[in-house]
Amino acid sequence: MRTILVCECKQEISSFNPVLSRYEDFLVDWGEAFLAYHRRVRTEVGGALSVFDQYPDVRLAGGYCARGITSAGTLESAGFARLAREFLDAVRAAGPVDGVYFALHGALAAEDVEDCEGYLLEETRKIVGERLPVSVSFDLHGILTDRMLRHASVASVYHTNPHVDFFETGARAARLLMRLMDGEIRPASIRVPVPALVRGPQCMTATGRIRTCVERASACLSGGMFIGNPFTDVADLGSNVFMTADGDEAATVAEAEAIATEFWNMRQFLQQKLSSLEDSARMAAAATGRVVLIDAADATSSGAPGDSNAIVAELLRQGCQRTVLAPIVDAAAVDQASAAGVGATITVDVGGSLDPRYTPLRVTGVVRVLSDGCMRSESHGEAWYAGRSAVVQCGPATLVLTSRPVSLYDRTLFLANGQDPAAFDMTVVKSPLSQRRFFEEGAQKLINVDAPGATSANLQSLGHTRCARPLWPLDPIDDYRPQARVFRRQA
Ligand SMILES: [Zn+2]
Repeated sequence: MRTILVCECKQEISSFNPVLSRYEDFLVDWGEAFLAYHRRVRTEVGGALSVFDQYPDVRLAGGYCARGITSAGTLESAGFARLAREFLDAVRAAGPVDGVYFALHGALAAEDVEDCEGYLLEETRKIVGERLPVSVSFDLHGILTDRMLRHASVASVYHTNPHVDFFETGARAARLLMRLMDGEIRPASIRVPVPALVRGPQCMTATGRIRTCVERASACLSGGMFIGNPFTDVADLGSNVFMTADGDEAATVAEAEAIATEFWNMRQFLQQKLSSLEDSARMAAAATGRVVLIDAADATSSGAPGDSNAIVAELLRQGCQRTVLAPIVDAAAVDQASAAGVGATITVDVGGSLDPRYTPLRVTGVVRVLSDGCMRSESHGEAWYAGRSAVVQCGPATLVLTSRPVSLYDRTLFLANGQDPAAFDMTVVKSPLSQRRFFEEGAQKLINVDAPGATSANLQSLGHTRCARPLWPLDPIDDYRPQARVFRRQA
């Protein structure tokens, strides 16, 4: 029998979210319960298990799992210390194993640790030794570091954005681990940093210009693009071409550098065009069909707090009478709605309770729905928790208020609270990219709004202080020459 240890630690943070996240913002699980959860969902671990389960001689050791409930602000020191201790204790407790699979993100940063995933991998190596096969999967928004690649034997990364290949990525990582354990491959990881932050529709892998880079980079043992989360302000922030050689190192290095040049040359297309808040509200009010107002500046799945009321406030200020559906995180407003009860009319301040970029907006409305905020994601079936939630209808604005942030890249929150976006003239979508089927189909207009926020695509508005400079588009860069870094572990 061969034993494989499986662990997970996934979270993405925005350094510009003023609210630090805590240990309590993670769903933590151990052992069999952790594996049992993933057998029911289309996650990386789920994909990996589907591969491992095909081997009668493989025994799985369920280790430790910490999944961010949703993306968030920088993790408190004490929170990461506890999470890392539990993770590494689980690695120790597994005893001698034949291989390791970790599902990580790549954009988790704590107050005192910038590269949390690199730290977990480095500390794991101290426990399992230098030669043990360790296969790791990452998010395409991960910030790839030398430390990660020094300690992983082989890495995998999503090929899709918006992400629809969690399961497939985990399955690839598992197959690589099996081949590594069988001595079939001798991978060398190649990283080519590109000093560019990218956003916008051309970063969509199905339709955008980035597609050719992803296809080229993935045409090897394991590869893809790491475009980073532009809001995780750490030293290594930037984009990377990632490829894995298996006996063809020189050719793979040359190809990775060529892809980096291709990516660099298309960087000006990989930006998000934005309309001012005022213009956006005016355009939405003037439309005759359904409008999607994209508020990527308060994208909870990128690490924003979710308490922006900016678009609703501007629509109301302009006297717009078209119906709008919008999510706002505001625990105190939910409390007030809950205390009043369904059917009651309340006057309540909404938004701006977490991020001082926003001013609380006073509204009067009717409490339509109260819920516990427990949902199943329509995208992947995962359990999501928005905390106690309330729907308050304030004239043309229907606000879905939640106690805590939850991912908003699909309709889960709206539908779970009885609100179908298709029934509204306008929907505020706090996510940069969503699958077309959720909001865009049947919509007359999509407006990318330049609202203030911790995850604004207006990158210059954020005030990066820690990332290595120069970094385009924050700084002009005249000449860029790709330089590959190669990481090879002992066989
Ligand atoms: Zn991502």
